[in-house]
Amino acid sequence: MPDESSGIPTPTTEERYKGTAVSPGIAIGPLVLLYADEHIVRKRRIRPEDVNAEIVRFESSLLKTRQQIQAIRNQLAESIGETDASIFDAHILSLEDSSLIESVKEQVFSRLVNVDYAYEQVVRSYTRKMKELDDDYFRERAGDFLDVSRRVLRNLQGKVEAELQNLDTPSIVLSHDLSPSDTAGLDRKLVLGIATEVGSRTSHSAIMARSLNLPAVVGLRELIGKFEPGVEVLIDGYEGLLIISPTEQTKYDYGQREKVHRDVDVKLDALRETVPLTTDQHRIIVSANVEILEDMPLIREHGAEGVGLLRTEYLFLQQDESPGEDQQVEMYRQMAQASQPHHLIIRTLDIGGDKKRPHLGIELEVNPFLGFRGIRYSLGRPEIFRTQLRAICRASAEGNVRVMFPMVSDLGELKAARRILEEVRQELRQQNIPQAERFEVGVMIEVPSAALTADTLARHVDFFSIGSNDLIQYTLAIDRGNENVAGMYQPAHPAVLRLIQTVVEAAHRNGIWVGVCGEMASDVVMVPALVGLGVDELSAGAASIPRIKRAIQSLNYEEARQLVSRCVLNESTEENQRLLQEMASRLYPEIL
Ligand code: PEP
Ligand code: MG
Repeated sequence: MPDESSGIPTPTTEERYKGTAVSPGIAIGPLVLLYADEHIVRKRRIRPEDVNAEIVRFESSLLKTRQQIQAIRNQLAESIGETDASIFDAHILSLEDSSLIESVKEQVFSRLVNVDYAYEQVVRSYTRKMKELDDDYFRERAGDFLDVSRRVLRNLQGKVEAELQNLDTPSIVLSHDLSPSDTAGLDRKLVLGIATEVGSRTSHSAIMARSLNLPAVVGLRELIGKFEPGVEVLIDGYEGLLIISPTEQTKYDYGQREKVHRDVDVKLDALRETVPLTTDQHRIIVSANVEILEDMPLIREHGAEGVGLLRTEYLFLQQDESPGEDQQVEMYRQMAQASQPHHLIIRTLDIGGDKKRPHLGIELEVNPFLGFRGIRYSLGRPEIFRTQLRAICRASAEGNVRVMFPMVSDLGELKAARRILEEVRQELRQQNIPQAERFEVGVMIEVPSAALTADTLARHVDFFSIGSNDLIQYTLAIDRGNENVAGMYQPAHPAVLRLIQTVVEAAHRNGIWVGVCGEMASDVVMVPALVGLGVDELSAGAASIPRIKRAIQSLNYEEARQLVSRCVLNESTEENQRLLQEMASRLYPEIL
């Protein structure tokens, strides 16, 4: 039920908000607000009659914070002693600063704003003043003070804060952002759909939503604070809409639309067992991207030929400590069995960027996507890397396992990774632990330097897998998760197509195969370009497989080759987009 004391009016008519559709489907349910980022505090106007309720909320959050800090202090006093624990006394004192408390109340009263906002403003001005003082003691205290105030804010916002893990009713989650670890912990039975204020098609939460088959809309911009939790919402993952308090007519219309989508899905289901051949008999392998074990039944259901990308980091993101060797072996083994008779391509950890958990020990970085990520992390944490490689090798004894390394930007990194792999294999041999006699080793091409030196890298691997999500991000300098530049994220850009062409030609010249496992492979407008460029395998979220098969089966390889040879030379991305869209609309309009 909407809480009247908050001052947020309950909408009386439906309200529509447009974002980016990233995972198809329609869902209706109560809204749950998730403050994934506790530092977001929005200004909200309140009515004069709500001032008292806001002040009460403030006082009870101060009290709650005091109790929490006191409990931590007592615990510490027992474990490390009274002297060290007494640093928390200063924290408690800062909660009782009467001039701060009065300033906050005064702002709420005179400016009629929500108390979280007033508190944050006052805290900001206090910390600024403390930092300006020419006194080390006060400058250091500013840090403590901020710590305490974050806790107060969290408690203030706790009224509407939901923990994904604690949902008890099937709901639609609205959050500023969802980190990959939040998304990895979703309970599919209780989350009906996902809406976020930021993000774009290739952000990891969007990828995860697709693989969980949950309707999702991202990039909705500032919405949190406008509605109460519990209000009924409809999420439209086809058009990218979030509809608050949908009318009966809207619900009826959406019911009708769902029927149409279901009819298309039933027709696509019939393609499950068919072979992805173009009309002139050019064969493409279509496999699936998976993140967690629960994805495996879906790959068979949708007719994928094995797994083209297992993002192993989700196993690490789902729990509070890194999985040990045996746990990994068990997971890879089960996945390899479920992929039979096809392959399972295990990508070694791609931790870093936006994929982090405290137990992985990654420091705060200014530019995490250009930082300690992918193979750089694995080479920098050899104990974690070796454990993972041992587990992969052991699993290879029982399935058609292949391995690949992410984010390689240089031959030296590839050689170092291969050297460690060889050492691990040797160690297992000495210990008489079974492993496959031989398995394919590949490298992901997702950094322009790797694409441009593909001819060198090709001599050291059995296959390439193009990670278009990152390759586009790094080529065009467009943050793949930033909704403000999402419109400039252009797979049809001639630079992107030329790089892929370079990679495919280098691979084939050296007798190795090449796949694409980024989201470009599931974009059926881009499929003719990838097929025409000579890519051998397309790997995508399981739910996209039937559409990709349908696109391939409608294409003529020679025609696709001719089209893309024009696109590569074209000056304009828009022209490429138009040509590709035109081909897709002519050949398979029903799946666009
Ligand atoms: C990619 O970059 O295209 C890719 C498949 O890797 P990820 O999306 O996990 O970064
Ligand atoms: Mg990548």
